[in-house]
Amino acid sequence: MFLSAPSVERLVDAFRRLPGVGKRSAERMAIHLLSTQGGDALELSDALRSAKERIGLCSICNLLTESDPCPICADDRRDARLVCVVEQPMAAIAIERGGSYRGRYHVLHGVLNPLEGIGPTELKLDRFFHRIKEEGVEEVILATNTTAEGEATALYLARQLGDLGAKVTRIAHGVPMGGGLEYADEATLAHAIQGRTQL
Ligand code: ZN
Repeated sequence: MFLSAPSVERLVDAFRRLPGVGKRSAERMAIHLLSTQGGDALELSDALRSAKERIGLCSICNLLTESDPCPICADDRRDARLVCVVEQPMAAIAIERGGSYRGRYHVLHGVLNPLEGIGPTELKLDRFFHRIKEEGVEEVILATNTTAEGEATALYLARQLGDLGAKVTRIAHGVPMGGGLEYADEATLAHAIQGRTQL
């Protein structure tokens, strides 16, 4: 049958690895792309390849970017004394959509998770602490998720940053407990940044 053809199975598997996509949705997307006339499928594959080839990580803040440094790090109207630490690029994008944050970012691309072997080395925290010191950052806003790992990571960073003399704050109000920041609405996030508390 169609779905058990090896090439289709590979496509369905690839979709299933995307966040929030179950087996049914993966199959539906594969069938849609393979059965539509015209260039939908090839356009998708082209767009994906082109984006993947052009997009890299900003060498300063780790955001996904086509230019290095990224437009946020390169924008000198942004406040370089203020750095907001997030787990994933989506959280920074959500905060940007809020429109009121004028500092810069640092994307960890993960959280500390000893059980999965993710420690300070894996998150390249040496480079992060070096950045904070070198750039004379005055305040670090810890905007990791409100999961157990996100909280533990924030505590670890707060302790280490304390020695560097930077003020450390944690976003607070309205962010759902146990949730990813990207699921909070823009107004809630803007409020959470405004209402951060010192650690
Ligand atoms: Zn950057």
